[in-house]
Amino acid sequence: MSNKILTIALSKGRIFKETLPLLKAAGIEPIDDPETSRKLILDTNQDDVKLLIIRATDVPTYVQYGAADMGVTGKDVLMEHGGEGLYELLDLKIARCKLMVAGYADKPLDKGHIKVATKFVNCAKQYFAETGRQADIIKLYGSMELAPIVGLADCIVDVVDTGGTLKANGLVPLEHMHEISSRMVVNKASMKIKNAKIRVILNQIQTAIDKG
Ligand code: AMP
Repeated sequence: MSNKILTIALSKGRIFKETLPLLKAAGIEPIDDPETSRKLILDTNQDDVKLLIIRATDVPTYVQYGAADMGVTGKDVLMEHGGEGLYELLDLKIARCKLMVAGYADKPLDKGHIKVATKFVNCAKQYFAETGRQADIIKLYGSMELAPIVGLADCIVDVVDTGGTLKANGLVPLEHMHEISSRMVVNKASMKIKNAKIRVILNQIQTAIDKG
């Protein structure tokens, strides 16, 4: 995309809804609604600002390679990605949840090889290594809660909000790994080339966050 255009990558749903007021505070308002439009590039009221609608897990990749200048995604996604090629500049304090180990209260996770089902493979590997335990990590793409029930794993690593999904599947939160919220990330080269525009946006969003 042209060097004169500033692109911001974000996902549909909760992140989009909760980012909207923050973008508005920075004078950016999308013209299309991603929930009803099939467009992947949304125009905004500013001719030189476009929104890219992609999966939250793809946001760090787009921003890392400069396919998007800026992006909004969860800290869980950023930790799993590793954060190469991008600056994490703002905690937007939205879409809050916790990255947790969950399983059965009566099944201790301190002996032998622990089978862990998760989509957060890197986070899980690092966490179990740091806590001095041997873990076999089983990669899943969703419905992690099913894995302990059917004996695929001893526990799961997943994001937990109310805990309702765990409870509904007979699981309990066991270990708190990380507080999660959405972050604004910026491509390192864009930060230099489009510095003035990006700084204004970041400052206006920061002011809106501070006001709560
Ligand atoms: P819960 O409220 O704990 O039942 O959350 C339900 C499911 O929603 C969890 O298993 C997560 O997969 C997902 N979830 C909750 N909060 C978030 C979030 N902030 N970001 C991404 N996924 C979430």
